[in-house]
Amino acid sequence: MLIDTHCHFNHERFATDLDVCLTRARQAGVLQMIVVGYDLTSSEHAVALAEQHQGTLFAAVAIHPHDARHWTPEAEERLTALAMHPCTVAIGEIGLDFHYDFSPREDQYRAFRDQLQMAHRLHRPVIIHCREAYPETLAILEQVSVAQIGGVMHCWAGTVEEAQRAATLGLKLGFGGTLTFKNAEAIRAAARTVPPDTLLVETDAPYLAPMPHRGQRNEPAYVPLIAQKLAELRGLHFEDIAALTTRNAQTLFPGLAGASSSESSNSPSASR
Ligand SMILES: [Zn+2]
Repeated sequence: MLIDTHCHFNHERFATDLDVCLTRARQAGVLQMIVVGYDLTSSEHAVALAEQHQGTLFAAVAIHPHDARHWTPEAEERLTALAMHPCTVAIGEIGLDFHYDFSPREDQYRAFRDQLQMAHRLHRPVIIHCREAYPETLAILEQVSVAQIGGVMHCWAGTVEEAQRAATLGLKLGFGGTLTFKNAEAIRAAARTVPPDTLLVETDAPYLAPMPHRGQRNEPAYVPLIAQKLAELRGLHFEDIAALTTRNAQTLFPGLAGASSSESSNSPSASR
């Protein structure tokens, strides 16, 4: 069994064939997926999907750094309610993105810190988005003692030294399709060297499809391609990486472990 710890089934690119994608995921052994929100609408959508597919889909809710300029007391109130929903297993994705800078950095810092506080208050782990802001992001996570709530650096793209620092802070590292890209030696070096209990797999679907699907729409059924690459890098069997990353995901997101996987095959499929 594999768990996709980061996908966006709440994205419009899955609006018409979500059920087909879910069937393909199940056939590929990907039995649980966390649907990650990035604004209020997508967070609500994530919770609704998790309600419809209990035991298979789980929600994470948050305002992404791209949308940090929309972080208001009203947004915080709505997000708090969504975060307390029983299908919600994490606050995310939150963080800093200095590559695009779609929101002013001041707003990004404010939304990031406030949502970390919310996660502490509600005892929820965090899913971190970080682009060209590793030193700043890791410094904040250290300040707020992220180890107390747990967190994952999703779609890891930092240096080996930054990966070690993240692991020291008690963070997990999410490896996705980029692990299979030709020019991703630094990512592979991090994947080879971090402690085994930090390893998670994810797709970030519909983005960043692994080889040989690069450039196409990504989907959770491709997680085995990422797990296979990770197994090669670590010198382990595929089954061992599957068991290890599943255990790590269940440790970080206790809401997953509580769900019976037999529920997934019995849950009614959505009518649309
Ligand atoms: Zn994402």
